[in-house]
Amino acid sequence: MTVDVAWATAWVRGSAGAVLEHRDELVELDRQIGDGDHGENLARGFTAVLARLDALEEPPAEIGDVLKLVATTLMSSVGGAAGPLYGTAYLRAAKITGAPTLDSAGVVAMLEAALEGIVVRGKASPGEKTMVDAWTPAVEAAVVAAHAGSGPADVLAAAAAAAERGSDATVPLVATKGRASYLGERSAGHRDPGATSSALILRAAAQAASG
Ligand code: ADP
Ligand code: MG
Ligand code: MG
Repeated sequence: MTVDVAWATAWVRGSAGAVLEHRDELVELDRQIGDGDHGENLARGFTAVLARLDALEEPPAEIGDVLKLVATTLMSSVGGAAGPLYGTAYLRAAKITGAPTLDSAGVVAMLEAALEGIVVRGKASPGEKTMVDAWTPAVEAAVVAAHAGSGPADVLAAAAAAAERGSDATVPLVATKGRASYLGERSAGHRDPGATSSALILRAAAQAASG
């Protein structure tokens, strides 16, 4: 059981659709504990990604080619914290997915590389009310599912569900990284926008794999 390049492009298109659909919600979350641009930032970035995907003359040969296109586009079109964080995540993921297909172990490695990129770039630990709080449980759940013998679609579904729970769990946290940390204790009681968008992106990955 594997996912392929068609899955990767469906994932990216699904991510763009989810980000555009939830743009206002992401703006509102970021308005509460940040500067209110997270939805706009990601909508602009993923719109640019779609344009570049549509402009390709030939389908990409490897999953990493798709992820590299996302990385470079987000880095050049999304400002603020999220652009470099997601850009580094996709770039790290692209580096280890230079293949036409991925099995469950490959999907786990891809998710681990993405989290590693976010942590290298942003230096956040779990519990600081950032996107790391979605990605960390997602990777943990993916590892468990793969070890239990699940195929890539079920590995991604486990990761998405864990990311959603992780995003929910950011609500009571006090932010100690990023713009929300300027609010100190007043950041508690609000969901982190980046953890929310991360859960959307991982849900899109699972949906693309389940057909
Ligand atoms: P900005 O804060 O520059 O306006 P965005 O609004 O696009 O950028 O993104 C904010 C999101 O970025 C936060 O909700 C959080 O999830 C994430 N973030 C901010 N700083 C960090 C960090 N150091 N590590 C991980 N994620 C972070
Ligand atoms: Mg913002
Ligand atoms: Mg900003």
